[in-house]
Order: sequence, then structure tokens, then C-alpha cells
Amino acid sequence: MNRARLLIFNAALGPLDYRVPDGMVVEPGSVVVAPLGPRQIIGIVWEAERLPTEPVPEHKLRPLIEVLPVPPLPAQLRRLIEWTADYYCARLASVARMVLASGGALRGPSKMIEYRLSGAEPERMTPQRAVAMDALQNEQSTIRELADLASVSEGVLRGLVNQGVLEPVEVDIDRPYPKAQPDFAQPKLSAEQTEVADRFTAAVKAEEFAPFLLDGVTGSGKTETYFEPMAAALRMGKQVLVLLPEIALTEAFLRRFEDRFGAAPIVWHSSLKSTERRRAWRAIASGDAQVVVGARSALFLPYRRLGLIVVDEAHEVSFKQDEGVRYNARDVAVMRGHFEKIPVILASATPALESLQMADSGIYEKVELPSRFGGATLPDIGIVNLTEEKPERGRWLAPRLVEQMKLRLERGEQSLLFLNRRGYAPLTLCRNCGFRFQCPNCSAWLVEHRLSQRLSCHHCGHETQPPATCPECGEPDCLVACGPGVERIADEVAEIMPGARIAVVTSDTLNSPEKAADFVAKAEAGAIDVIVGTQLVTKGFHFPELTLVGVVDADLGLEGGDLRAAERTYQQVAQVAGRAGRGAKPGEVLIQTRHPEAPVIAALAAGDRDAFYEAETEARRDAGAPPFGRWAAIIISSEDENEAKEAARAIGGTRPNLPDVAILGPAPAPMALLRGRYRYRLLINARRSAQLQDILRDWLGALKFPQGVRVAIDIDPYSF
Ligand code: ADP
Ligand code: ZN
Repeated sequence: MNRARLLIFNAALGPLDYRVPDGMVVEPGSVVVAPLGPRQIIGIVWEAERLPTEPVPEHKLRPLIEVLPVPPLPAQLRRLIEWTADYYCARLASVARMVLASGGALRGPSKMIEYRLSGAEPERMTPQRAVAMDALQNEQSTIRELADLASVSEGVLRGLVNQGVLEPVEVDIDRPYPKAQPDFAQPKLSAEQTEVADRFTAAVKAEEFAPFLLDGVTGSGKTETYFEPMAAALRMGKQVLVLLPEIALTEAFLRRFEDRFGAAPIVWHSSLKSTERRRAWRAIASGDAQVVVGARSALFLPYRRLGLIVVDEAHEVSFKQDEGVRYNARDVAVMRGHFEKIPVILASATPALESLQMADSGIYEKVELPSRFGGATLPDIGIVNLTEEKPERGRWLAPRLVEQMKLRLERGEQSLLFLNRRGYAPLTLCRNCGFRFQCPNCSAWLVEHRLSQRLSCHHCGHETQPPATCPECGEPDCLVACGPGVERIADEVAEIMPGARIAVVTSDTLNSPEKAADFVAKAEAGAIDVIVGTQLVTKGFHFPELTLVGVVDADLGLEGGDLRAAERTYQQVAQVAGRAGRGAKPGEVLIQTRHPEAPVIAALAAGDRDAFYEAETEARRDAGAPPFGRWAAIIISSEDENEAKEAARAIGGTRPNLPDVAILGPAPAPMALLRGRYRYRLLINARRSAQLQDILRDWLGALKFPQGVRVAIDIDPYSF
């Protein structure tokens, strides 16, 4: 090949052709450096016939500069990139950029320099230096990342380097990872588990595409059943990818993995430091990496010989990415399995309706684990009707729940209270003038966080200190907290059960793998009596002494009435209920609600999952909602409200008139202001037969908008 077509990351430019200089060898998938004007850019060599562009005459071609020393992206991965871009109406370049997640880090040598405190003191201590030295205890990273960590400028740190306070450490990017051993410790599986594990293992050995829905109740031992096919893949010298919904859960998983395979897997998530990220990327691309456990972005890594993909807790919303390329990792995982010709296991105790439907129609193979491992029983579920059993004034926990919690404390057992609201109170207002604290950048109230003494926006991160007087009327001591968050519930528990050891578990308190590991260790050792947490506590954890789960407000998720409200509520409550009674002692669940008659609550109380799914299926069928019809959203945003509105009108005004497509809007989006951008939205509801993506591309591709306007397409939006 003496001409190469590149997919480049500057999406505005489209694909470009280059000349391959004599002696340079490239093939499709090669990652190369090319000149662009006076700059150098990175691109991926692509099959020219799959990437149409204007032909450039031979004499105008500029030569490629170099081929980067990483293996070419495999064809299966290039097909996945094309599919993802096509299905989600995203730019090829944007998807490809996710694959080369470490971008510039691909270049350069296999040694990198990191810095750490040497123990020496600076010649002159300044406040900045003190802050940095305090923040960087036990840290080692690049100057840039250390500066971020310590919130000081890079200049401050360079000063410390010059004085020998920070010392350089050479890091070998290509040092191998410890080897996982497929037969390190083999657990004895139950008959039920063996049957499931054998089915998976056979599929791994067959080396064919095979999507599975592993539908197993909480505590049935799903993990053990997919560890066996993982072992089989390892014996075959193949790589395995496990997607987990939450980084806080990874710690517990890693320990189990290590117990079974004798070495930790490679972890991949967005907050890895650059040396780790680069090391992992290269090991994955070379095929040396055996098992990768990661967040959704791990799906787009350049595995050399993937043998199995597992998506655990596959129903989780965190698999849906809602910015940039708006994809659902659960669905892309199945497509990756298709291109790689390997099995994909979607595991859940509360599968998404879409997944169940795929299983029912025979596209996915359903395998079931209907009972808990080791004879543990599913917990008893009781309803606390808050309209009859009222909590005391200013409190949120009903007497019956409190009584049961006290009983657990006496017995030395654990209780867990679930409320999906971080912070102390979701709304702060002035009792004198009614002023409400709102985020200046978003249509959202500021949430009071008492632990950190902040009012903060959960959408953009804006924070202020609660003022002493009302900013509107100037009245002192007039601010009242409205409604409960987990911190407030924890305060209530401390009041009614003095001496109880309470842990608040949210993304604020478990914001690092170390903190997550610390919490799990304490909870397992019985050093915590009451856990109060958000959705973070609904999944994964296994605490044998936990025998009571209280759902503080089951109605919370049903408000707003979006498409998935009922399903989400069902999943969250069933998952959190699944934390109770996983050991020898039976569990009990109390659900506080004002609407015991709501179908989802009634189904939960009766423990009748089928009833819930049947009712939900009918509702979706009537609404033409997934899996029976399809939805897409067009989100138009700008910092200028008028500009956003005008663009939305222009889109609305050119809507196609098609028999199998209904178009709603434009209307202000549910978050009409988000991170300083005004947002409008159109919703498209299409029959399954409609060529939804083509319709959207034809419609929007013909329109031009001002610079500041962003138009995003969300295919299969999660909620609206
Ligand atoms: P699930 O993911 O289905 O909720 P887990 O895989 O977390 O269930 O298993 C629940 C508990 O049972 C875990 O503590 C696990 O270690 C234990 N367990 C499951 N299967 C076995 C087995 N075959 N032998 C020993 N312990 C098991
Ligand atoms: Zn905000």
C-alpha cells in the first residue's frame, strides 16, 4: 500500500489520504502519526473503501511520519467502531477516540517518570507547599496529576522537584502483570451452578457468538458460575472482560477474583493515572493482559484475543453513557461479542425488560439460578404504609422500622437503610421570605451537605457555603432544610439508637477504592451496626450479618413518571432487598410508602416478579415503548437561551412526516438548564420497522446551526 486513508480525531476534517513512504509498513488498523498543516496528528489507517472521501491527487499527498509501536487495531474492533458510530449517530472519530483512550500516551518510550515525596524538607515552607506536601503523602504520579490532586499549580511542584522534596521515580510501562491461574482454587459449585457454568464453558470452547441472559436471584452465586468460563478462556490463552457498573464495587470483586485465580485482574476506569492507563492499554493491545475488570469504557479497549465478555448487574443505568458518544455498554457488549465471535453473559437478578424480551424471543439464551446459594432464603418483604404508620414529627422512620432496627442492634446484627439521595437535605429555603437555593448553572436545587458544610449542585458540581443570613431578605437564622437525604437519616438513627455505629455510604463517602475497601472490611467484621446509603448499597455487597433492610421512601423514584420509573424502582428495591439475609440468618425488608396500591409496590410486597414484568410489558406495549417500539431524543443546547430555542424551532419546523414515526416537541428538556447551557428537546417514537437512524441523519444533516449550538442525538435514551 503506498496510499493510506486515515481516520483522524479532528472530526471536522473527515478522513484524509497520505502517502506511505518507502520502507514504512502499514496495514488497516495501524496507528500512525501524520502531518496536518504545521502540526502532527494521530490517525488510524482504515480500509479506504469503507471510509469514503474526496480523492486527493497523487502529487498532493504528504507522507506519513511514523507508525506508533502498538499493534494495529484488529478488524473486529474496527467493525465495532463503525457499528457504534452508525447505530448511535455518532462520529466515527469520536468512537475511535474512545478506543485510543490514552491518546498521546501511545507515543514515547516505555519508561515514564513519576514523582513522590522524598522525605526531605523544602528550604522555605510556604502555605502552597504545605498544602501540596500534605496532599501528596503516599501519592506517586506525574507532575500534572499530582498538581491536580493537591489543587496547586505545576509551578509549585516543580519548585519542590528542584529542591529534592519531590523525587523522580522511573516507571516501566511494559512491566508484566501478575499471571492469573485458571486452576488456582476451584470452589465446589452446587448442582444448579454447575449446570449453568458448564453451559457457559461449552460456549467459550465453541468460539462462537453466544449471548446469554444469566437471570439469577440475589445471592444465587452468579459470580461463581461465570468464573468457570473465565477459567476456560484463560486456559485457551484468551482474554476476558468483566464490566461492572460501579467502581466502588470493584474492590469486593477483586478480592474474590484473587481468591479464585491467585492474582488480581487489570482494572480499567476513567480515573486511572496516566502511567497505569498506558500500561493497561498496552498490555491489552499486546494480548498480555488476561482479565480486565472495568467500567463501561473498558468495552472499547483493543483486546487482541477476547474470549468472553461478562456484564454484571447488566440492568444498571451506569452502563448508559449520557455525554459524548451516547451508548449503552450492555448493548454494545453484545455487538462486540458478535464481531469477536465469542459468548457474552449479561448477569442480573432484575434484568431490563429489553433483555428479558430478547431472551423470550430466542435471541439471547436464558439461563436461570432460581434459588440462593447454600440454602439461604430470600427475605420476607413487608410494607409500611406511611399514611397510617406515621413517623414522629420531623422524623422519617416509622415506629415499626425503628423497633426492628433496635432489635437488630440488640442481637448484634446489621441494618441497612436505603434512600437514593445524597447529602442532608435536597432543598434549603428561607422561612421568612420563601427564597430557595438554586444552582446558577442548572435547573436544580442546591443540596445541603452537612458533613462537608456545603450547598452543592448534583449536576454541575457548583458549591457554596451556606450563608448565615438569607441572600434575598437578609434575615438571620431563617434557613430550613426540607426533606431528607442520607446524612439526615443517619442523624435520626444516631438520635434514636445512641451508641449505634453508623456508616453513610454514598459516592461522597466512598469516593476511592481504598475507602470502599475499608467500608467493606468494617461491615464484614461486624464493626458497623447501621448502613445508610444511596443506590451504591443496592448492589454487589454481601454482608452475612445484615438481616434488616429498610427502604426509606419507595415512592421517590416513581415521581416524575418517566418511562422507566416503575422498572427502576422495582430493580432498586429488589436489589437492596437482596442484601438482606444472605448468610445463615433470614432477612427481613420493610418498604416505607404512601402508595402501597401502586402495581410495582404490590408486586414487590408479594415477591411476584412475574406480575411486575407482565404489567410493565403491557404498559410498554400500549405506549409503543421499548422493546415494542423505539425512542430517540434530540437535545439542542446553547449558552444563549434564545439561540437554543431558535435552533430547536428550526429542527421542529423541518420534521419529516412519516407514518411510522411520531415526533414530540420541541419543549424545554427536563433539565432545562444544565451546566450553564439551555436545553430543548424533541422526542421521537418510532415503530421497530422504521429506519430511525437514517431518518435522523437525513433530517438533521441538512440543517446548519450557529457555532454555539450543540445538537446531540440520544438513541434508546435511558429515561425521559
Ligand atoms: P449473586 O451475584 O448471585 O448475588 P454471589 O455470586 O455474590 O451472588 O454469591 C453469593 C455468596 O455465596 C457469596 O458470598 C459467594 O462467595 C457465595 N457462594 C456462591 N457460590 C458458592 C460456592 N459454590 N461455594 C462457596 N460459596 C459460594
Ligand atoms: Zn448545577
